[in-house]
Parts: sequence; C-alpha cells; structure tokens
Amino acid sequence: MKKGVVEELEKIVGKDRVSTKTADLYVYGFDASIHHKNPDVVVKPANTQQVSEIVKLANKTRTPVVPRGAGTAMCGHTVPLKGGIMVDMTAMNRIKEIRVEDLYCVVEPGVVYDKLNSMLKKRGFWFPTTPGSGEACTIGGMVVTNASGMRAIKYGATRDYVLGLEVVLPTGDIIHSGTRTLKNASGYQIDRLMVGSEGTLGIVTEITLKLAFKPKASAMTLAAFNSLAEAGKFVSNVIAKPLMPSALELMDSVCIKAVNKCMNVGLPDVAAVCMIEVDGHPVAVDEELKIVEEIARQSGAVHTEASKDKKRIDYWTYARKAIMPSLSRFGEKFVSVALADDMAVPISRIPEAVVAFQKIAEENGVIIGTYGHSADGNLHTKMLVEPDSKESWMKAERAVGQIFDKVLELGGTVTGEHGVSITKAPYMQKERADSIAAMKAIKKALDPKNIMNPGKIFDWEGSIIAHLRYPAFLEQEDEPSPRGPGGVDEKAGSK
Ligand SMILES: Cc1cc2nc3c(=O)[nH]c(=O)nc-3n(C[C@H](O)[C@H](O)[C@H](O)COP(=O)(O)OP(=O)(O)OC[C@H]3O[C@@H](n4cnc5c(N)ncnc54)[C@H](O)[C@@H]3O)c2cc1C
Repeated sequence: MKKGVVEELEKIVGKDRVSTKTADLYVYGFDASIHHKNPDVVVKPANTQQVSEIVKLANKTRTPVVPRGAGTAMCGHTVPLKGGIMVDMTAMNRIKEIRVEDLYCVVEPGVVYDKLNSMLKKRGFWFPTTPGSGEACTIGGMVVTNASGMRAIKYGATRDYVLGLEVVLPTGDIIHSGTRTLKNASGYQIDRLMVGSEGTLGIVTEITLKLAFKPKASAMTLAAFNSLAEAGKFVSNVIAKPLMPSALELMDSVCIKAVNKCMNVGLPDVAAVCMIEVDGHPVAVDEELKIVEEIARQSGAVHTEASKDKKRIDYWTYARKAIMPSLSRFGEKFVSVALADDMAVPISRIPEAVVAFQKIAEENGVIIGTYGHSADGNLHTKMLVEPDSKESWMKAERAVGQIFDKVLELGGTVTGEHGVSITKAPYMQKERADSIAAMKAIKKALDPKNIMNPGKIFDWEGSIIAHLRYPAFLEQEDEPSPRGPGGVDEKAGSK
C-alpha cells in the first residue's frame, strides 16, 4: 500500500476509526472460510460521504478495497487477497424507516438480520429469507451475496426483496438505483447487478427492502428414514403433491450422529431425518400437517412426529443449527470446513445427488456430512479435514471436484446461496464458462483499476487450497505464484 494512505484515511473518518494494530489486521484477515490474509489497514466509516471519500482515495492510489459486514461469508469473500483497505461497514447500522403501509423499509448495510426482523415482527411483518447466520450477518452482506436460507422455497432469496440501493461505485461516485415502489421498470436495474456482486463492483451504503407479511401460524413435522434415497424422494414427493412447505431441512446420518454426540439432542439414529415446516392460516397449517405425515409414510418414513409446540419446534431447529459446530467436534483430529458446501440441484435429483456424495466420500477416504434446505434443492456438505495434514486437504480437494462435476451433470449449480469468491471459483468458471467474458467486461467498465475486492470469482486461478488459515500450508502464504496470489497481477489493482 502506498505511503500516506493511512494518514489520509484518518483525515476522512478520524483517528479512532482507523487501525493498523497487528491484532486487528490479523482478526480482519478471516471470515468463515478456510482462507486468511491480513489487510494493511482497517477503517470504519460512519456515513456514505465517508465511504465515498475512502473509495476515491483508494482509486487515486490504486489501493485494493474490501468491504466487510459481519465476516460470516464462507468462501473467502472478505479475505483481502491483495491486502489494502478493509472497510468495516458495521458502524452504519441504522434502521432509517419502516413503512408497513407502503411495504418497505430503509436500512443501512450494517444492520444485523435478526435485529431488523425483531423490529418488523412487532408490526406483523418480516424479511423472511432466514440465513443460518441471521444472528450475526448484516443486510449489506446478505444483499451482496444474495443470501437466502431454509425458507427460500416459499419466500425466495434476498434478491426478491431488494427494491433499491444506494451504492458507492469504484470511482467514489454515489448512485441510487431502484425505487421505494413495488414496481419499477426504469432503466438498467443496477441494484440487481449489485446483488451477488460479492464486493467487487462497489460498496452498498443504503438498502430499501420489500416487506413480507408474517404468517399467523406455523408447525413442524420430523420424519425419519432408513435410507438417504427415501428421504430425498420424500422431498420431491412433498413438492409434487403439490404442497408448499415454508422449510424442508434434510440431515444425513453423519450429521445426526454429530449432533447427537456433541449436543445430546436425541434425534432418531437413522440414515436421514427431514424437518418440514408449514406456515400460514391456522386451519391450513392443521390440514397440511396431516398431508405431510401421509406423504412421509408413503415415502417410507419409519417414524414421524408433528408438533405445533414452539418449544418442541425450537428444539428441532436447535438440532439443525447445531450441525456445523457439532461436525467440528465430531472427532478430535478433524475440523469441519466449508468445501463444496452449498450446491443446488433440481429437486427431483436430490436422491441421486446425496447418494453420489456419499459414494465420492467413501472412494476418496473423506468424511462428508450432508444436510440442507432440500425443498429448493440446496444441499450443504461439510468435509471433515485433518487441518495439519496435506494429504487430507488433497483428498478433500479431489472429492470437491468430483462432487461439483456430479452437481453440474445433474443440471445443478455449484452455489445456491453462499456465493463464489475463492473456494468455488474454479467450479463456477466451469459452470458459467460462456458468461465469464461478459462478467469481466462489466467489472472492467465499472472498476477499470480493479480496486474492489480483487482476485476473486472469475479472477481466481489455481487451487482452492490456498491462503489457508490452517497450519498444513502456512509455508505457502508468502510464496507468490507466478501471477501473484490467486493468479492476479502482482501490481495491486492494476488491471
Ligand atoms: C453458521 C453460518 C450459517 C450460514 N448460513 C447461511 C444461510 O443459511 N444462507 C446463506 O445465504 N448464507 C449463509 N451463511 C453465509 C453468510 O452468513 C452469508 O453469506 C451472509 O449474507 C454474509 O453476511 P455478512 O454480513 O457476514 O457479510 P460478509 O461476510 O462480511 O461479506 C460478504 C460479502 O459481501 C461484501 N460486502 C459486505 N458488506 C458490503 C457492503 N455494504 N457493500 C458491498 N459489499 C459488501 C463483502 O466484501 C463480501 O464479499 C452462513 C454462514 C455461517 C457462518
């Protein structure tokens, strides 16, 4: 980073909002992925004008800029591959307006998902996308990754709720795209382009979100199966009935064993369980509970339990949410890592997909837990890796490649909700081969100096097992590849 940048940043936001402390740089080098790299400086702007000044400075000095919300992204999204300025957006956390009569709210990007919903629910509304990280993740991070979650089957993804955005472009210019109306056909939908742009096209500084009506009632059924294929078939049988669940979560035996062992939750010890939530008018909920139970039995369920009791439902939801931490404590030598963690396949191909994943795991000698928001075909796998064993990482990477090949063969996508960044880049490039040139052209038009989150998505080259936060490959950290880390130009931001 050029000399003088830190001092200029201090002039823009004040000294107390800029840090170059070793501990801060180290901590901000992480997100929830397997990767790590320190930024050169961390800055915490308080308003849009400051964000604009920061980006103008970065543009002038060709300094890389990485915007950051809560840092819960799972593919290296906020890891600053080229160092530079980490822009922490969490101080911009005001809920500016809630207008239920107009069905919208206006928020700053640092507002946390659960906090917004706790305000909306008091008035009978909600933003229903329900990411598993809702306690921590920010609305800005959700917009820029097009986050969704277990209720996407019925309520859609973040993209379906964005009415308008204020954005600081890589030049530092501030633009407004979209509206506060529910309809809008006014020119290019730049707000749509920003959704899923992963911090590579600008910094979102204000978001107008559409509101949804909170359903009056909800209930859940737990269904246990002796085979993963039967559980997968049950999912497509529910949809084909037709019946619209508000969530349908699937857990395989690896996940069940992990949560039973580590959290002592006492789920049935079977090959797979499904948790099916229905919501809406109380009469419709009662009727749908019966239909779900009937479909479960016809699909081969060996045990079903339906409940409207909030405590019981919270308990099952807790078990589902405990998968990630439990897998990490499954065996002493393993850590659970986000690799091939978020593919989606057409719903009817779920049985084939989950069986194939287990076969790939066995053939490669790796442990894979599969779970996911199966009603929309979105499956999560977590791999258990021995963090200080190169061999273990290599096996995992081989399995990841085979899993994604299978997903693409089934007509799926390598990421349903978590996004691309580093860990999915090579596979996204395979999936979207004919669109990469168009993506690069858009990037070049908006960010000709390549300052915004450089080196990610279509810019990443080489292995995903790079810039690891774990010991096995630490020696690689300072070894630049021929084109620099991740294959990007060594002159930061020079593209
Ligand atoms: C336990 C756990 C469960 C999860 N469950 C889900 C799930 O169910 N569904 C799902 O979709 N994801 C899930 N995730 C992934 C992650 O939480 C989401 O992608 C989330 O939306 C990221 O929000 P964040 O505030 O943490 O963003 P960050 O991780 O800080 O950033 C994400 C990306 O957005 C960019 N960014 C952040 N703020 C801005 C801004 N204001 N302007 C421009 N760019 C910005 C960053 O540069 C980065 O590229 C989960 C993660 C964890 C750890």
